[in-house]
Amino acid sequence: MKKLFLLALIFLTACESLPTYTPEPDYPVVKTNPTIYDAKTSDPVGLGDPFYPMLGNPGYDVNHYDIALTVDPTSNTISGMTTIEAVALEDLSQFNLDMSGLEVDSVSVDGVDADFSRSQMELTISPRSPITAKQAFTVAVTYHGSPEPVMDDSIHMPLGWQKMTGGLFVFSEPSGAMNWFPCNNHWSDKATYAFRISVPDDFEVVANGRRENISASEVPGYSTQVWVMDDPMSTYLATIVIGQYESESQQSTAGVDIHNFYPLGTPDNVKDDFARTPEMIDFFGVLIAPYPFDNYGAVLANEELGFAFEAQTRSLFGKQGADEEVVAHELAHQWFGDNLTVATWHDLWLKEGFASYLSWLWLEHSQGSAAFEQHIQDVYDVLVMSQYGVFFQPVGAVRPAGLFDLYGSTTYYRGALTLHALRLEVGDEKFFEILRTFYANYSGDGKTAKTDDFITLAQEVSGKDLTELFDLWLNTDWMPPKP
Ligand SMILES: [Zn+2]
Repeated sequence: MKKLFLLALIFLTACESLPTYTPEPDYPVVKTNPTIYDAKTSDPVGLGDPFYPMLGNPGYDVNHYDIALTVDPTSNTISGMTTIEAVALEDLSQFNLDMSGLEVDSVSVDGVDADFSRSQMELTISPRSPITAKQAFTVAVTYHGSPEPVMDDSIHMPLGWQKMTGGLFVFSEPSGAMNWFPCNNHWSDKATYAFRISVPDDFEVVANGRRENISASEVPGYSTQVWVMDDPMSTYLATIVIGQYESESQQSTAGVDIHNFYPLGTPDNVKDDFARTPEMIDFFGVLIAPYPFDNYGAVLANEELGFAFEAQTRSLFGKQGADEEVVAHELAHQWFGDNLTVATWHDLWLKEGFASYLSWLWLEHSQGSAAFEQHIQDVYDVLVMSQYGVFFQPVGAVRPAGLFDLYGSTTYYRGALTLHALRLEVGDEKFFEILRTFYANYSGDGKTAKTDDFITLAQEVSGKDLTELFDLWLNTDWMPPKP
């Protein structure tokens, strides 16, 4: 994810403080402050993320989500069923899914009606017969309603399923997915997906993965559009956009299929922003590893957005398009963030710092080393100024529950400069070997990466003691000298 106004904000925050953020009173708010959580008294528990202790659920592992919804984009109402295939990790007489808003009509486990209850963002399910450890089971939740955005203490933007001009889009990082389907809402539990979305005939559905087919719906005047994501994906990356769209296809020299989706009437100069995606995909393919998924492409919301987002295989941008750096940033996330999943939100720089630095490496490739050096200097200067502002903090000490803390400039730009400092310390050959090995060892289903994993690996590959370098760049509360 990349907030497009980040750099401007850093300048601003160095000089003056921003007004206090107040969430919309009616929206559910996800609390990220760990102090509200006490493992001894709280029940039920989440997966224990240090920033989001209540998100996700222990006791089972989801393998697949089948999300079948009938959507009226005009009234923003949905109805349908999400079917979850999971495996129990322990004996379960009861288990939880994360779900925010909406009305649950019924729940079944392995085809048998189950009791359920709701409390805040938890859906607690009691199957008729207990599930035993290692047993595969299927949960079907039938529900309806009008999704309301989730507000999250750490990011201060409406999350999840939300309205746009002439349709709907989904942007869920980090906690919004639960406002449109019940789920195990932590990015460490990845699963495959099928989206079966029925919409009025004159609307198009765009989602992650590939479109399987379009058929007539049971509802007159509606069609059912099926998209399939075959590669494991975190819940926050599941994205659909509904509106009136045109598409264009490209192919990279290495053979990656690219499908971009634009709102009808998108001007050519906006489409041109994505013309170099094939080159970028091959550039990262050589630099890190071959592109990890079936296909790729951009989808533009029919709305100007103040951010862009790396939905798996289908990055989301505002209708205004994006500059070269942002297009490269979201693409780079397909490797670091989507296929390589960060263990906890505390390790967020492992995806945001990496995607930022990879986008700068693209600038170095496309615009030359002088432009690259100037970019490093500009970012460094901004961070030096911002260290006197209220939002400055070390990368390794990002705090939740503070304005722009988690998704702040240090996570992105100081994270990226950390990688640049490492590159200068170990040399290009070892540096790129570190990136490639880190990606190879920690990407794919069932794996996650922590900051310590990266530091250990960097030391192993380089044969150097890098404790001081990482401590300086990740943990000091002042800006280290420019690398
Ligand atoms: Zn990002």
